[in-house]
Amino acid sequence: LSEKLQGALRKMTGRGRLTEQAVKEGMREVRMALLEADVNYAVAKDFIRKVTERCVGADVLSSLTPSQQVIRIVNEEMTELMGSTNAKLNWSSSVPSIIMLCGLQGAGKTTMCAKLAGYLTKQGKKPMLAACDIYRPAAIKQLQVVGQQVNVPVFEKGTQDPVKTAKEAIEYARYYQRDVLIIDTAGRLHIDEELMDELLRIRDTVSPTEILLTVDAMTGQDAVNVAKAFDEKLNVTGVILTKLDGDTRGGAALSIKAVTGKPIKFSGIGEKLSDIEPFHPDRMASRILGMGDVLTLIDKAAEAFDEQEAGKFARKGLSNKLTLEDFLDQMQSMKKMGGLRSMISMLPGMSGKDIDVDDNAMKKPEAIIRSMTPKERKDPSILNASRRKRIAAGSGTTVQDVNTLIRQFEQAQQMMKRMMGAKGKKALRNMRF
Ligand code: GDP
Ligand code: MG
Repeated sequence: LSEKLQGALRKMTGRGRLTEQAVKEGMREVRMALLEADVNYAVAKDFIRKVTERCVGADVLSSLTPSQQVIRIVNEEMTELMGSTNAKLNWSSSVPSIIMLCGLQGAGKTTMCAKLAGYLTKQGKKPMLAACDIYRPAAIKQLQVVGQQVNVPVFEKGTQDPVKTAKEAIEYARYYQRDVLIIDTAGRLHIDEELMDELLRIRDTVSPTEILLTVDAMTGQDAVNVAKAFDEKLNVTGVILTKLDGDTRGGAALSIKAVTGKPIKFSGIGEKLSDIEPFHPDRMASRILGMGDVLTLIDKAAEAFDEQEAGKFARKGLSNKLTLEDFLDQMQSMKKMGGLRSMISMLPGMSGKDIDVDDNAMKKPEAIIRSMTPKERKDPSILNASRRKRIAAGSGTTVQDVNTLIRQFEQAQQMMKRMMGAKGKKALRNMRF
């Protein structure tokens, strides 16, 4: 979905000023991209209507940066579509809280039971697993194996009535003070009455705190239909989207909440038992939109960093005439782009909160270079001890800071030289500045 969507958005927003007509045409393409990604038809239609309405709003079209606004609106509406914020698990006031996992065969229930148990253990809970899939001979064994891998006890009673097993598991959990009971249930290849009846009986006997429907993201629109059918029968409390690592389209993620009204609470992102993540609609939207705010980043970078400057920098690096003066110019450009923090927060998989970047980190080198004479900036090799001491004093830093900067500069010079080897020279000749 990302590529198609990005293409459509770029086409629409690439021309600076936006007209209502351009938005409408662009949105038609966005709609096609959504449908191809297996987003539910009604959901796509409604989504496009909302986004278009907001995009042709007077303030967007007349703004100086309509392209960024359109992308922002698409992002916001997608986030909204998937439930806005991360939906947390509910806990019961009495022990144990009971989480029942259900879904079709192969959706990833058994794996997810263990993933969830491992995840909750890290949160300080004491989970226990109950094996209520008694039909496939290997099912109980499988749960025991993954349970052991995450160090969580597994309750099983062989092939006895799973309703009875579930009930006994609660007693057992209470006795051993396990505060979360996670129930693994049977699946079928298709939804059938027998399975639904069994799940209903378990549900009505144990009154789960959470009934989490596990669906395979890779099955796209089928996952959504399955979710709808299960929810109508069982009234689930949430959805777990597995195999998101293999889902390149995002159709299920985008449609499930809108179709069922039930939030996606967790996602499975790989076969390893640590491959579980709470589902964050905003992060998913960014991912679908093409990894972080790369589009915005590119726009910003292009604005601030004009190509001529970049060319000058590269040429100097090539001829080994890179000076600290150029270094300073580079830092100025970075500043224009909104500083390190905001740049990094726009990269895929990063958000400003998660990383500790000190925008002040750029202030020191700047101060140091500014305290140098033009001659020193051009030829750092003349920086002897007494000069370094003077510069440190002048810039309010230490000699060590000055040394660090000079070392970094020398490294940058070296790197440039290496990058601009024979190959680089050729590439540079072919570039127009
Ligand atoms: P169940 O029949 O619903 O209990 O499904 P299982 O837990 O047995 O999983 C079926 C298959 O899907 C197994 O081979 C799992 O390793 C695989 N699987 C489960 N979750 C994920 C996931 O998030 N990503 C990937 N790539 N594979 C998964
Ligand atoms: Mg299973």
